[in-house]
Amino acid sequence: GFKCGIVGLPNVGKSTLFNALTKTAQAQAANYPFCTIEPNTGEVAVPDPRMRRLADIAKSKELIPTRISFVDIAGLVRGASKGEGLGNQFLANIREVDAIVHVLRCFEDDDITHVEGRINPVGDAETIETELMLADLESLERRTEQTRKRAKSNDKESVTMLPIMDASLKLLNEGKPVRTLLSKLDAEELVILKSLNLLTSHPVLYVCNVAEEDAVSGNAHTEAVAVMAKEQGAETVIISAAIESEVAQLPEDEAKEFLSALGLDEAGLDRLIRAGYKLLHLITYFTVGPKETRAWTIEQGTKAPAAAGVIHSDFERGFIRANTIAYDDYIAFNGETGAKDNGKARDEGKEYVVQDGDVIHFRFNT
Ligand code: GDP
Repeated sequence: GFKCGIVGLPNVGKSTLFNALTKTAQAQAANYPFCTIEPNTGEVAVPDPRMRRLADIAKSKELIPTRISFVDIAGLVRGASKGEGLGNQFLANIREVDAIVHVLRCFEDDDITHVEGRINPVGDAETIETELMLADLESLERRTEQTRKRAKSNDKESVTMLPIMDASLKLLNEGKPVRTLLSKLDAEELVILKSLNLLTSHPVLYVCNVAEEDAVSGNAHTEAVAVMAKEQGAETVIISAAIESEVAQLPEDEAKEFLSALGLDEAGLDRLIRAGYKLLHLITYFTVGPKETRAWTIEQGTKAPAAAGVIHSDFERGFIRANTIAYDDYIAFNGETGAKDNGKARDEGKEYVVQDGDVIHFRFNT
């Protein structure tokens, strides 16, 4: 499955958020640095209002959402790349995620210690980013010499890898994260970059954890984060972990009431989960019938056979075609029959790139 790693300095609200996310008490929130020592993984349903509409039309008995994972990663402190705090463990855990959700403390509270003694989310972001860049620099420098030698003796893998290593090193030496390289690489180069397992090549999303009263419009801290994120082409989500942990304990209707009393139209976690999904370049297709409406996750750009493989490997192996209706057509023509009658059910072959919202029946040989 796809994983977002939740990172941030100690006491910024990671565990509170994670607990709310998974509604479990596994990650203990406490006013205590390094409280979250083991990485905890929680799977969450990806909220998608389209499912209800599809299920109503098809009279599906059941709705089965797709899921992504969040990993609560132990606190990073200044000096982690040199082994301070839980440095090495942190770095190992972060290598295993696909994207980073970076929680920044944007709330004031004299009772909750800030490890650096002041509230400055942009400074906090830089502290962590610096540690990640230092760790990447060290690991790349270590590996590049070896690769350079092998490339000289025409080792094919090293020849393709070296320019990407060099480009990454150049960025890091300029004090820039490797993710700024992502938009300049083609698909093949992206695979190589991924294989380097760098910490700063993961896409990042900033979560501003604010006090309850700032949940609707943010504050001066969140504005500063927004400016920084914009420069990096990153997204931000404003959330009050305190509100979310209360909401997570309420039944759905009470949660709605509670949120609207605060001036919020949906749970911050729903926004966060969707933002994480987008950050991972994931899209959803649906299988819809009287038994169930089910959402399936694929990466953007996935072709029909591989998309079928998410359901079952037999579907991929024996793939014949994908009978496909776009979500908007399915709704506009009130379901499969209507869409078919209006020529909106397409038979797509092996080369079809599945689109977000497609409603698909796969045909396959067994
Ligand atoms: P972590 O170290 O980043 O995982 O932080 P925790 O989630 O354990 O939170 C540290 C402390 O800050 C706990 O006592 C939380 O109750 C508290 N905390 C978390 N979010 C907020 C918030 O939005 N406002 C306030 N006032 N306290 C919070």
